[in-house]
Amino acid sequence: MIMGIIVNKVQPSIRSTRRPSIVKVAAVGLVSGTLLLAACSSGDEESTVQGSARTDAASLSVSANFYPIQWLVREIGGPAVSVTGLTPVGEEPHDLVLNAKSRQAMQDSDVVFYLGSDFQPDVEKAVAQLAADTTTVDLLSSPGVTLLAAPADLGKESLKGNKDPHVWLDPTQMIAMADQIADVLTEADPQQAEVFAANRNALVARLTALDEELTADLTDCRVTTIVTSHAAFNYLAQRYGLEQLAIAGVSPDDQPDPATLQSIAEGAQAAGVTTVFFEEQLPRDLSETVASEIGASVDLLSALEFDPEETTAPGEDYVSVMQDNGKRLATGLQCQ
Ligand SMILES: [Zn+2]
Repeated sequence: MIMGIIVNKVQPSIRSTRRPSIVKVAAVGLVSGTLLLAACSSGDEESTVQGSARTDAASLSVSANFYPIQWLVREIGGPAVSVTGLTPVGEEPHDLVLNAKSRQAMQDSDVVFYLGSDFQPDVEKAVAQLAADTTTVDLLSSPGVTLLAAPADLGKESLKGNKDPHVWLDPTQMIAMADQIADVLTEADPQQAEVFAANRNALVARLTALDEELTADLTDCRVTTIVTSHAAFNYLAQRYGLEQLAIAGVSPDDQPDPATLQSIAEGAQAAGVTTVFFEEQLPRDLSETVASEIGASVDLLSALEFDPEETTAPGEDYVSVMQDNGKRLATGLQCQ
């Protein structure tokens, strides 16, 4: 690495034998005075690491609505793409109200990636107002992304089309979005086609290995119901043969009334639940109430709605946090 400080080496996945080693290079950038993180692959025939700060090398300006999408764009774009997140660090992404800086970033971007289906209505509104030369991509419409209906029981208002936006918690849907991002970036900057393709392939290999690891972790579980803080885990549950029993709705703001909380506790008890999961960035009192009601313990489960690097788990990324989720679920659900 030239001029870069190596801050993190992502643990190699057990099953991934052909994955190139991934390192992260931290470079202090001038844009917004923030620490820019450039993820890059090396170890392949062609290295995408050029060693310079990404702002010098970036040919494309991209906005991404929140962490999982930022992460995908960073992994695929590498130093050729400068990525701005629209959700400020530590802020709840559901129903985000865009600040002036994020609005400006969208206007200055060549490409804006976001999730539709009313996950962040303010972002969708701003997208509709952008100049015609900005490419805007609703990743929930990517080929291969299959949307599930939003759970209806707790939703305060019915979401547009009642679709659940939490696709990122299924690694196979992340692969579908990665393909779409690679295609869009390639169209926007054809000169980088080979770099984007190599980065996309390395990323898909990691996500495929993650999916296999989660499948192995979540096989033959004594308990198949996950009690979660908010209804974020339906895609994960569906992918790995589990069921979600959520305390809050699709948006964490959709809080249950006491009668609903009681019926969640009864449902959890009937399902033999011994661990109730909470999310690190949400109040854990409701999870603790349900847990104490049925004599269960509590444990963390990340919905990855926040950048772990910037908030709770420095040095971690989407894959490592999902691996950790898999281990916690395997323990909490007593999988073999
Ligand atoms: Zn959520």
